[in-house]
Parts: sequence; C-alpha cells; structure tokens
Amino acid sequence: MLKQEQIKLTLEKLYEMYPSAECELRHTNSFELLISTVLSAQTTDKKVNQVTEKLYQEFKTPQDFVTLKQEELEGKIKEIGLYKSKAKHILSLCKVLIEKFNSTVPGTMEELIILDGVGRKTANVVLSNAFNIPAFAVDTHVFRVANRIGLSNGKDVTVVENQLMKKVPKELWIISHHTLIFHGRRICKARKPLCQECGVNNLCEFYNKSLLNKI
Ligand code: SF4
Repeated sequence: MLKQEQIKLTLEKLYEMYPSAECELRHTNSFELLISTVLSAQTTDKKVNQVTEKLYQEFKTPQDFVTLKQEELEGKIKEIGLYKSKAKHILSLCKVLIEKFNSTVPGTMEELIILDGVGRKTANVVLSNAFNIPAFAVDTHVFRVANRIGLSNGKDVTVVENQLMKKVPKELWIISHHTLIFHGRRICKARKPLCQECGVNNLCEFYNKSLLNKI
C-alpha cells in the first residue's frame, strides 16, 4: 500500500483531474436515489437514467410503486439487468418504507440495510449523496481503482471500505468516492486501463509493478 503522503498526493491529483466528479445517477430526492441505486447493480448509470427518466414521471413515492404488480414493474424496468429481482426488491422495500418509516427514506446505515436489495454500498451511496453523511461507498470501480493504485489492498469490499476510511480524511470520503468512480470509468478501466494517459501513473503500484516486470 502507498504511504500516507503518497495517498494524499494521489488523491489531490485525482481531484484536479475530475473537478466535477459527482453522483451520475439522476435523482431529485432521497427516494429516487434509493431506487436508482438499487437498479444500478451490474448496470450502467446511463441505462438506469434512461429508464428512470420515464419511471419517475409516473411513480414518485413508495405509495405509487406499491400500486404496481411485480410483473408490471418488471415491464417498466426490463431494459435493466436483473430486472426481475430488482422489481421484487423495490416493491418489498417500498412496503417497508410505508409501514416502518412513514414513507420516507431513513438516514442511518442500520435502518437502510434492513430494506430488501440494500447492502452497505447502496446504503453508503444514499447516506452520502442524499444526506451528506460521510460514507465511503465501495463499488466495483472504487474497489478496483483503490487496490490498483495502492490506496488499499483488500480482498473484499468491506476490508477496502475500512482501509479507505482509515487512510482518507473523513471530510474527503464523499468526493474521493466520486473521484475514484470517475477515474475507473474514464481511465482505469476494468479490462484495459489506459495507464499511459493516466495522471497518477507515477504513484500507482499496479503501473510501477508492470514496468518492473518489463525490465
Ligand atoms: S496507472 Fe493504470 S492502473 Fe494505475 S491508476 Fe492509472 S490507469 Fe489505473
């Protein structure tokens, strides 16, 4: 793993590279963000935004969603991967929001993760983006990019989340999450990272090891 000073330098460079890094799931409130994040598993944000643009015009609240049968909701989100299980989760979580939380989205990790289809990553996305509560959501991009660079070296997302929370100052968790996602989508891609074009390649452990292997 990189030393603390190197981590600081790497993040500063990444913030410079992506000054407008932010949540790319379109939403106007915490409920839309929650539903969009559940829909986004193993699907691009772009696809989710295309589907929700229409969906949220018609269905704005948990009450609106529970008027739908599961097959009806499936039909409305069928362009999204895993749409059957996502439709099931959404209807179930809307019922719980109505029954337990007065149709509002709760603002704690403990409450969010009792909702169907909501794990730590989704809860962290909602806490940080809807409530501005410091949280470090580790999705597939954050996991890959942080481990490649050497900001973390965990084998699972929980370990990486804990390492990042220790190494990165709390006030930078939210922006660092967005910045690592932007970098993962644009440069540090899963299959073929564009290392030659990368602004942090001088600090990156993955890149420096690959150079050594070529010697
Ligand atoms: S040098 Fe390559 S592996 Fe390292 S962060 Fe940049 S793109 Fe990713």
